[in-house]
Amino acid sequence: MSEQNSSSTNNVIPCSECQAGHMHREYIAYYTWLGDELITVPDFPAWVCDICGRCEYDENALTRLTLLLSPNAGKNLTAGLKVHKKENIKSKLQRPSRPD
Ligand SMILES: [Zn+2]
Repeated sequence: MSEQNSSSTNNVIPCSECQAGHMHREYIAYYTWLGDELITVPDFPAWVCDICGRCEYDENALTRLTLLLSPNAGKNLTAGLKVHKKENIKSKLQRPSRPD
């Protein structure tokens, strides 16, 4: 593993959806539910088409994430992830002042 690509535009693959566009490697947010918790993965590697906007998450990264999220992988899995619990959503709904 001595291969290092500093250029992110180096990898381009033809789009399988529209056949006309090219899919570029980008880093987007990935959301998945783990039980009651919404797991957010910032800067998740994915392929995005510049024509039709088709988005495919990177297969290797998905596999790694699946391993990370598996129950047997240990409890440090959310160390680099943001975990949104439902309690956090509730505080947003409360408003300090009401018009009536
Ligand atoms: Zn496309």
